[in-house]
Amino acid sequence: MSVWRRQEDPSRKEANQPRRVAGTHAASCVALLCLSFLFAPVASAQRTELKPGWNMFTPQQDIEVGKKAAADAAKQLPLCDDPKADAYLTQLGMRLVAKLPTNGVQYPFEFHCVNDKAINAFALPGGYAFINRGAIEAADNEAQLAGVMAHEISHVALRHGTNQASKAEFASGVLGIADGILGGSTGGALLSKLGAFAAGGVLLRYSRTAESQADVMGTQVLYDSGYDPRGMAQFFEKLEAETKGKNPPEFFSDHPNPEHRVERVDEEIEKLGGVPPNARRDSTEFEAIKREVLALPVAKKLMPAAAAAAKPPAPPSGNFASYQANGYALKYPDNWKKYPDSNGAGASFAPDGGVVDDGTGHAALAYGLIVSVAQASGDPNDWDALNNATQQMIQELQKSNPNMKIARQSEHVRLNGQPGLATYLSNDSPVGGQETDWVVTTLRPEGLVSFVCVAPQPAYEKYDKTFNAILDSVRFAK
Ligand SMILES: [Zn+2]
Repeated sequence: MSVWRRQEDPSRKEANQPRRVAGTHAASCVALLCLSFLFAPVASAQRTELKPGWNMFTPQQDIEVGKKAAADAAKQLPLCDDPKADAYLTQLGMRLVAKLPTNGVQYPFEFHCVNDKAINAFALPGGYAFINRGAIEAADNEAQLAGVMAHEISHVALRHGTNQASKAEFASGVLGIADGILGGSTGGALLSKLGAFAAGGVLLRYSRTAESQADVMGTQVLYDSGYDPRGMAQFFEKLEAETKGKNPPEFFSDHPNPEHRVERVDEEIEKLGGVPPNARRDSTEFEAIKREVLALPVAKKLMPAAAAAAKPPAPPSGNFASYQANGYALKYPDNWKKYPDSNGAGASFAPDGGVVDDGTGHAALAYGLIVSVAQASGDPNDWDALNNATQQMIQELQKSNPNMKIARQSEHVRLNGQPGLATYLSNDSPVGGQETDWVVTTLRPEGLVSFVCVAPQPAYEKYDKTFNAILDSVRFAK
């Protein structure tokens, strides 16, 4: 669910437009930060210099969080369990790593073959790389496979995962979602924050700028290790051509296709001095390993790679904390965090890992509760007025959540003795798949108060009891 809030000031034109929590203000802050990620200008015919962007975590924390996420991924992904394939990937990977500029940091690189036919690969912070058999099978030669791997390890060297988490953290910090994290908090708190980002999949959703940087550095690494530097761009072109008109391959959902991808890579090859005549393209080892993985039995797919690296939040606690807002009070699980709106009326409540990046740098609530107050007038005991205001609010929600649908028509309920409407909606979940939104509304002197309970559909049942307990605890001011 796109976390949204109404503008309270009726004098403003956009008064009725809902907006995402990480709206214009945060977006512009993120945009500002992005300036430092632009390629450093260099003299022509010199290789592009790339450095990791702004990061609030240390390289050691990259390794720590990556190691944990990799252990989870290894448990949830069907691994090839083929020592020959793993040894080959490790040998090839380390050959590339030898030419990777890491600013002196020694990342503990690991390369694992995943028994998944989808053409994909990913590397967690710290250097834990997973390469699908589908990527090996789709590569025409060793230079193309090396290209994908060089791209992945460049994300590690450029620390894109924790850079992404830093930006998301900054964006949410600006809005008070994580007050105090930026100012003088301990390394331990930061690290657990990072764990929450790993759980939300933030570490593996790269921006197009990050993709372009990984392409450029990957091309340099290919060149420096003696491979045909066109290998990576050829592989991406092939992926695109083969899937024209079909669903985009998984690779592009984790690694969005930057604009002018191939041109940018060609430009870099030019700067490096062109394709060396003796550049390595293929090897008998590659052909042998390709045959080896083609012969592997197909494993049942457990989870898409990026989702496997993410973990759902801990279950809601049975103990409750109190929250007092202007106009109402409620109780929420004491292992959730509260994120009050600046206007004092609305608030969100979510477990660690419940607020995630929606893939565009905006915060989205995947698990938890959003309370908001919308402008509406009417007698609190008039069901028609309540129904009208509720339908209008749902239509507004649908504007910022285009795939949101009414799953079950509104039913009459009581909320702290007041007439209320309960409506079930379905929507795209920011963690993938569908989510259930249970919306309970009631009319109050301050407007239409809505309680939106959000959880991914498969997990909703586990949250139902908690949502009911929260709504039962609601007390309105007299
Ligand atoms: Zn990428």
